[in-house]
Amino acid sequence: MSSGTILLIEDEDEIAELLALYFEKEGFRLVHADNGEVGLQRLQERSPRAVLLDVGLPGIDGMEVCRRIRSASDVPVIMLTARDSEIDKIVGLEIGADDYVTKPFSPRELVARVKAVLRRSEERPAKPKIINVDEFAIDSGRREVILPDETVVRPTAREFDLLWYLAENQGLVLSRSQLLEAVWGYDYFGETRTVDVHVRQLRKKLPEIPIETVWGVGYRIGS
Ligand code: CA
Repeated sequence: MSSGTILLIEDEDEIAELLALYFEKEGFRLVHADNGEVGLQRLQERSPRAVLLDVGLPGIDGMEVCRRIRSASDVPVIMLTARDSEIDKIVGLEIGADDYVTKPFSPRELVARVKAVLRRSEERPAKPKIINVDEFAIDSGRREVILPDETVVRPTAREFDLLWYLAENQGLVLSRSQLLEAVWGYDYFGETRTVDVHVRQLRKKLPEIPIETVWGVGYRIGS
């Protein structure tokens, strides 16, 4: 049985050929587009379950392609980035990507990430629920945070998932690897930075939210 179609938007043919092998072995069909315009077209024609999107593309760059995908679709997007310096941009610009991997990556890890993203996107909580942390109301139905002065802040999808997990475990210290596993859904490969970058973004958007750094361990929300 086919696991579905994955769309790869990537200008390097070698990467495309390699990934096609790995994904086909796992039962996926990999559709390849070598630039953003063709990619957006394929997205419409093929309705893939997930998109793998290179940041450095000729023509429209990957960031912009991601924004355009998001304006039309909720399909999970995993960014492929060649430079460390692009990571903060991917996370910070709220382009709506679900995950990213840094080149060179192992195709097996990428397959694992795709499966994790698919699992998560199919397991979204059915019942809206609100958790209060101090004067903040975190609403999992609307995926937004209501501030004490009633202002509404909408973090990105991943930031919200991280905040929600912290809030569900209010008062407990959670390690970075626990957070990675719970929110990103894969075992810790050495990128604690991912958690730190997302916490930093949350603090920027919600300066008063009581997320505490527990030195040498991880993070805790509330008391
Ligand atoms: Ca490229």
